[in-house]
Amino acid sequence: MQDTKKFIENLSGAGKSIGVLTSGGDAQGMNAAVRAVVRMGIYVGAKVFFIHEGYQGMVDGGDNIKEASWESVSSMLQVGGTVIGSARCKDFRTHEGRLRAALNLVQRGITNLCVIGGDGSLTGANLFREEWSGLLDELVQSCQISEEASQTHSALHIVGMVGSIDNDFCGTDMTIGTDSALHRIIEVVDAIMTTAQSHQRTFVLEVMGRHCGYLALVSALACGADWVLIPEMPPKDGWEEQMCHKLSENRADKKRLNIIIVAEGAIDQNNKPITTELIKDLVVRCLGFDTRVTILGHVQRGGTPSAFDRILASRMGVEAVLALLEASPGTPACVVSLCGNQAVRLPLMECVQMTQEVQKAMDEKRFEEAVKLRGRSFENNLNTYKLLSHRKMNAELPRSSFNVAVLNVGAPAAGMNAAVRSAVRVGITEGHTVFAVSDGFEGFSKGQIKEFKWGDVGGWTGQGGSLLGTKRTLPAKHIDKIAEQMRIHNINALLVIGGFETCDRIKQSASGTKHRVFIIETMGGYCGYLATVGGLASGADAAYIYEEPFDIRDLQSNVEHLTEKMKTSIQRGLVLRNENSSENYTTDFIYQLYSEEGKGVFDCRKNVLGHMQQGGAPSPFDRNFGTKIAAKAMQWISKKLKEFYREGRVFANTEDSACLLGMRRRALVFQPVIQLKDETDFVHRIPKEQWWLRLRPLMKILAKYKTSYDVSDSGQLEHIVRLRAKDISAI
Ligand code: ATP
Repeated sequence: MQDTKKFIENLSGAGKSIGVLTSGGDAQGMNAAVRAVVRMGIYVGAKVFFIHEGYQGMVDGGDNIKEASWESVSSMLQVGGTVIGSARCKDFRTHEGRLRAALNLVQRGITNLCVIGGDGSLTGANLFREEWSGLLDELVQSCQISEEASQTHSALHIVGMVGSIDNDFCGTDMTIGTDSALHRIIEVVDAIMTTAQSHQRTFVLEVMGRHCGYLALVSALACGADWVLIPEMPPKDGWEEQMCHKLSENRADKKRLNIIIVAEGAIDQNNKPITTELIKDLVVRCLGFDTRVTILGHVQRGGTPSAFDRILASRMGVEAVLALLEASPGTPACVVSLCGNQAVRLPLMECVQMTQEVQKAMDEKRFEEAVKLRGRSFENNLNTYKLLSHRKMNAELPRSSFNVAVLNVGAPAAGMNAAVRSAVRVGITEGHTVFAVSDGFEGFSKGQIKEFKWGDVGGWTGQGGSLLGTKRTLPAKHIDKIAEQMRIHNINALLVIGGFETCDRIKQSASGTKHRVFIIETMGGYCGYLATVGGLASGADAAYIYEEPFDIRDLQSNVEHLTEKMKTSIQRGLVLRNENSSENYTTDFIYQLYSEEGKGVFDCRKNVLGHMQQGGAPSPFDRNFGTKIAAKAMQWISKKLKEFYREGRVFANTEDSACLLGMRRRALVFQPVIQLKDETDFVHRIPKEQWWLRLRPLMKILAKYKTSYDVSDSGQLEHIVRLRAKDISAI
């Protein structure tokens, strides 16, 4: 199909008014979504209105509905909760309430709504849209609006964004707030682990999720919990003995601490709640272990939004405005959601119905179906957890004669250890003998290689850096010695884990200071990913990268732009510079230029983030990504080993004998390294085509620059069922 390119410059919001509200439970990242809607709306020439206090503000009108300005959303990207307020509103559930809301909107000329909330809020929005023309007729009949006003405002367009920490909404991989909630949970688990290690304790931790086990499941994956209980997968009868058996087995294996994670809504096969107290009593009674209960509660909603949530919400906010601009009276209400790396639009009611079906399936005890309905990504999490947490007895394992080695290369990165743990355990489960190599290819050449057993990688998920040790040395230097080691140990396959970068480490927040510009240097070699995505997450004014060359005129216009901005109520500026973005326009140069030009308006501070970006405990995203991607890689290796095994030998003579596994748009793809050769810029060690470059205009738009933005990718309304069917390699 020939695709004609579509650019933002050709879309206009002139004459349109957009209302934005947050509804239901609050979630971190909602502010980032509001900010993006406001700025994108203003950028395309529309008027944007805040609707405070959710639907209540829409029903009550008055000061609750206020026009937003560019500056009114400054400095809110990093704030948790929702600045414009959220509420649960009884009135909106009544026809009377919705009639008043319609009047308030028509009086202000608002016929476009961005609703950020859970499935309840979005259902309400859809109902409102369906009733709209009837409501206007009533308002005309009661002479509250004129016939002409009714004609002008005859169509109401609605776009939803799912803001909910539970990740309980079908049709999106992630909802706004989920990743931040995971951060809070993992912070607590990491803290608990240190105390529990000293005392040999069992911790029972309750996390949120009355109807959805996502938070519990993914935190269990991210911390390698001993047991997890979620509503979608009630444990089989007799689970009590099994769990106690597992706990005592782990304890015998020198594991000093046990962690059991329980979703708020955990149930047994008979839909009876399984509470934390019940579990505690069970463990104490059967095993006599010192057992403590921690209920996390609202801590999970608190704190600043994670980088991931800020980026997700910003992308969704921009996409929501695009969807509103393109809506025609016949377009159904849609939600913007995330599929893999891509923002997509789905019919709102399809998603809501699917979400409700999950609950129905659980109520009717069709649990397997409930898991399937949650989507491939959820199912994949569950399968990976099962695979990694339940150690199989030797007798249960298939026996393969294959030997697989795992090693880390390049710079250490958070999440690497999670990947190694997963690879080792999946390898063992597949029946292979798994070897771990220390210090990368250099260690390999020196024979630093030993067999790893299940217990050798216990507790590795949460650790930063590379426990195996890693080196930047390329294999070519020692190729003969490496080959010899491979012969000695009869290695049939190699899993190389390296080159990950994380963006989560940039948490530099520059709020709270007056008229100051921060110049921050980020790592990444020649790759501007961290600077760009970090820029989007922190609301940067500019991000200088190697991939997008800049000259003195660009620097000048950036400085002038920032000086103008600082004359308004905006008080801080943030400029990111990738370490190798330019040989001569160094971080010092840029710092001095901004300092000189900003004299009397702002002062500057500079910060070279350096190795702190590689340090620290891995984020939940990196732990899970590392875990799942390594599991997938090891399973793929097993398949290939079997496929190419002939008379005692493994043949590695096809293109896909050496593959790179990575996320491309929506799916995980194994790509032969030989093909990557053409796509790689070896001098600068970056791909020739970088997907994230498409996010750069977005950052610029949100920082008030006019720019060209190719929006050809968005615009199509997809369907949830079709999406799930083709989404074969969900992460
Ligand atoms: P959370 O995931 O945090 O529970 P939610 O959006 O599902 O968020 P709800 O309390 O279900 O939270 O809904 C929020 C508000 O949306 C309600 O207080 C009500 O005003 C409106 N709403 C929900 N369902 C409907 C409905 N069927 N008809 C009209 N309005 C509704």
